[in-house]
Amino acid sequence: MSEPMHDRAKNETVPMTLVQIRQELKGQKGKRYWRSVDELADTAEFQAAVEREFPHSAQEWVDPVSRRGFMKLMGASLALAGLAGCTKQPDEPIYPYTKAPEDLILGKPMYFATAHPFVTGAVPLLVKSDQFRPIKIDGNPEHPYNRGSSDPFTQATLLDLYDPDRSQHVTWRGENREWAEFAQGLRVKMAESKDGTGMYFLSSTITSPTLARQWKAVQAAYPKATLVQHDPAISRTPIENGVNVQYALANADVIVSLDADFLSGATYPGFHKLVREYAERRKSPETLNRLYSIESTPTTTGMKAEHRLGLRASEIPAFAAELARAVGVAGIEAPANSWTAEQMKFLVAVVKDLKAHAGRCVVIPGLYQQEPVEPLVLAINDVLGNVGKTVLLNPPDLAFGFPRAGLPALVADLNADKVDWLVILNANPIYTAPADLGFAAAFEKAKTVAHLGSHVDETGQIAHWHIPAAHYLESWSDARAYDGTVSIIQPMIDPLYGGKTAHDVLQALLDEPGLSPYEAVRETWKPVIKGDFEAGWRKALHAGWIEGTAFDTKSVPLGAQGLHIGPIVPSPKDSLEIIFRPDPNIYDGRWSNVGWLQELPKPVTSLSWDNAALVSGATLTKLGLEEDDIVELTVQGRKVNAPVIVAPGHPDNSVTVHLGYGRQFAGRVGSGSGFNAYSIRTSDAPFYTVGSIRKVEGKWGTAITKSHYQDHRPKLFGGQGNGNNSLEADEAIGERGIVRYATLDEFKANPGFANEGETHTRTNKDNSLFPNWEYKDNAWGMSIDMNSCTGCNACIVSCYAENNIAVVGKQQVRIGRNMQWLRIDTYFEGDLAAPRAHFQPMACQHCENAPCEQVCPVGATVHTPEGLNAMVYNRCVGTRYCSNNCPYKVRRFNFLLYSDYETESLKLLRNPDVSVRSRGVMEKCTYCVQRIQAAKIEADKGNRAVRDGEIVTACQQACPAAAITFGNLNDKASRVARLQADQRSYQVLADLNTRPRTTYVAAVLNPNRELEATPVEHAPAKG
Ligand code: SF4
Repeated sequence: MSEPMHDRAKNETVPMTLVQIRQELKGQKGKRYWRSVDELADTAEFQAAVEREFPHSAQEWVDPVSRRGFMKLMGASLALAGLAGCTKQPDEPIYPYTKAPEDLILGKPMYFATAHPFVTGAVPLLVKSDQFRPIKIDGNPEHPYNRGSSDPFTQATLLDLYDPDRSQHVTWRGENREWAEFAQGLRVKMAESKDGTGMYFLSSTITSPTLARQWKAVQAAYPKATLVQHDPAISRTPIENGVNVQYALANADVIVSLDADFLSGATYPGFHKLVREYAERRKSPETLNRLYSIESTPTTTGMKAEHRLGLRASEIPAFAAELARAVGVAGIEAPANSWTAEQMKFLVAVVKDLKAHAGRCVVIPGLYQQEPVEPLVLAINDVLGNVGKTVLLNPPDLAFGFPRAGLPALVADLNADKVDWLVILNANPIYTAPADLGFAAAFEKAKTVAHLGSHVDETGQIAHWHIPAAHYLESWSDARAYDGTVSIIQPMIDPLYGGKTAHDVLQALLDEPGLSPYEAVRETWKPVIKGDFEAGWRKALHAGWIEGTAFDTKSVPLGAQGLHIGPIVPSPKDSLEIIFRPDPNIYDGRWSNVGWLQELPKPVTSLSWDNAALVSGATLTKLGLEEDDIVELTVQGRKVNAPVIVAPGHPDNSVTVHLGYGRQFAGRVGSGSGFNAYSIRTSDAPFYTVGSIRKVEGKWGTAITKSHYQDHRPKLFGGQGNGNNSLEADEAIGERGIVRYATLDEFKANPGFANEGETHTRTNKDNSLFPNWEYKDNAWGMSIDMNSCTGCNACIVSCYAENNIAVVGKQQVRIGRNMQWLRIDTYFEGDLAAPRAHFQPMACQHCENAPCEQVCPVGATVHTPEGLNAMVYNRCVGTRYCSNNCPYKVRRFNFLLYSDYETESLKLLRNPDVSVRSRGVMEKCTYCVQRIQAAKIEADKGNRAVRDGEIVTACQQACPAAAITFGNLNDKASRVARLQADQRSYQVLADLNTRPRTTYVAAVLNPNRELEATPVEHAPAKG
């Protein structure tokens, strides 16, 4: 038992036991929150971290990361060298979203509908194009699937487009060649094979109907040609198993997630729709749903749940079987697992609740728990009468219906010298293939390997041919969203590096080898678009989808599915399970070189720039480890070193590792970050297995953004008086109530709970020495719904793109200098083994009595006539008094020149409506003032007021939960004014009389009374 604790008297680290940690949590008055294990244990590391609110200014110049090194590190996200400053649109006609202006009007952007093709379903988009440069990506607000929302991956694909490390030339063994030479060589070889014998294609999952059609045509001409589809972070497409399952959460009063992380991000199919429907039911206490989560690794879905049960991954199938038996699914044998009393109590409560809400509940299976959880869940939903109500079954899209061989079969053929040509389409198997397959060795046996990829990555390095892949924003294609609707992917810009697409490669083998992807896509949809094809085509491009292509929501009969459940045997309880999951930020590694995503603090752990071995506090203690120690993970004799950190709520005897790191050839940003979890992952157990862990020498140096601000205030002024806590957690503790919530019963008994108590009450506007501001027309304000926010981070990445926010690099993050204008504060509550978390988006509050304005010696931070707290960059001299005086700690100071504004090509990425900041300047959220001004200009032209909802901030636009509302507080009918008037609406630190213009809607939880009374609520089995 060696949880570290800082002994201030001796100034050294001494062990702190779990018992002591729990003791820390006991006897607390009110709700006690903490933000990291270090904070809970008050370690020396925590003390050191929070002491650095403003690291001494001399320090950066002696940091190991020199300015020169820093710029080199950041090159890929900032210094976009190598591109010409001019751009052009594609030759084929593309159609703007709104009425096309006759000519380009400089300074007036245009919007185009397109879609981000992703393996879990396309994300329909509206892309802002300025002088033919895509500069902002957002969801298509008209699209029935995502209604304008997006996700961190989709937002970040913009920076991916402008990545200067993308490959730029067709090469043969490293020498520049022409595309035509490659295409002709492939075509000739295919023709020589006569029937395709010896010709292999290894593709990322084909989600484009046109690409599927092209492959079918290739196979018709060359029946022995072989296609292998490989996506390392997903074992199948959602519609591949013969039936497409969709969930309608709008109709679900009770939701049970069996390791399904459907609230975190686009890794889960249908994320945008599922979050929206989940969150809509959280907006009012009248419509609250209830979420149970049984999960093997802590996620935001689990943290949002009313009740969460942490189980090891191998226990989830057994739990699903118990659940199935208990709700009445016939023919299920009792799995071989012993449950604790708490676990059984949880199960009984869930079953009772499900039965009480039959037809109005839903059970959702985890994406990495297909066998046998998925069929069990289907049967559970069937027995509960949910099919056709909350569970919609549709026939699969036939476009994806062709069978596919797997990687093991390809490796066998490679080893048997059967492969003449291996053409790899948008995949990186040298990096991602399971370690036991020996893919790299087998790869050598292919006579010729061609690689179509965005980078000369690990696979591109050793392939004979390399073809630069066009980005989706540069190419024509098509893709289906989760609901089945087909979007035409239209390019926003001609390929920056002359890239080609998988359509070009397959078309080179067909009768019309020169047919462009544009024509190929049109060919696909000519039989589908009824009536005048050209009119229908233009309409599809304008709107962003082809009408009538959504899946038929009529249910297919479930009986045909059958239920074949083999014996379910969880791993021995004393074994160590290793869980593999795609990274929440860089997914399977494809976005390793995107600085926005590398720097983004991961949900739950707040880790940036690395992956880690995530364990429970008890497992850390049992192994005699401290956070940031280096451990060696071993699976079947394969080893990898990783840093270890605690993930609150992680099941014991279990380790989660995220894929996508440890890249060698990702580019200047991504190469060398983290460790390669693929190196210990095997084909028979891609998502969890049994392994071992041991401590090795050294510390890793992870960058975690949880606790950067120490609270030195005496008790009289609201602090704890000892400087031992982070300011954020101190403020969240009981009486200050940064985070306020109630259960439904508490809310019914006391609807005004959010604004009661001395420190919770809003102050009178006349309680100030300063005169009140008067607002004639507009008074901008924001409301954030704590019940809806799921902590998905989409808003942060959107803010990066909209506001030209700089990436600072790992070393700068480690010393608290990340520049994000918006952060998601995560407050844990309760036991380290079974916490609840609260996610609170925190940006500049635009205070009416702004403490920053009062202390700026040069008037660089000022109040505008519409209530914004504005920064005048030109005036700022970097005293940072404003940040010192800001109780919300939302101001960001450019200690170094993080933005490279000398490089010509940066103009392609940047939003021209937002100033580029230099070194020595304070910056922070502006409520997207550029969007406010644009809307006001439009309103002025029409001689009218700005309409409610006309201004949408970047964070608001991205949010899939619609948790953020912005508008005019002077308009009492506006949504934001009505939300701010709601009895659950509260101001953070209202007692300071700052009178923030951003308010929060306090959460109301809907716990099951039978579980609420459990002493240690839903605690997992102790290992
Ligand atoms: S506010 Fe931000 S973190 Fe919260 S749900 Fe919306 S986008 Fe995600």
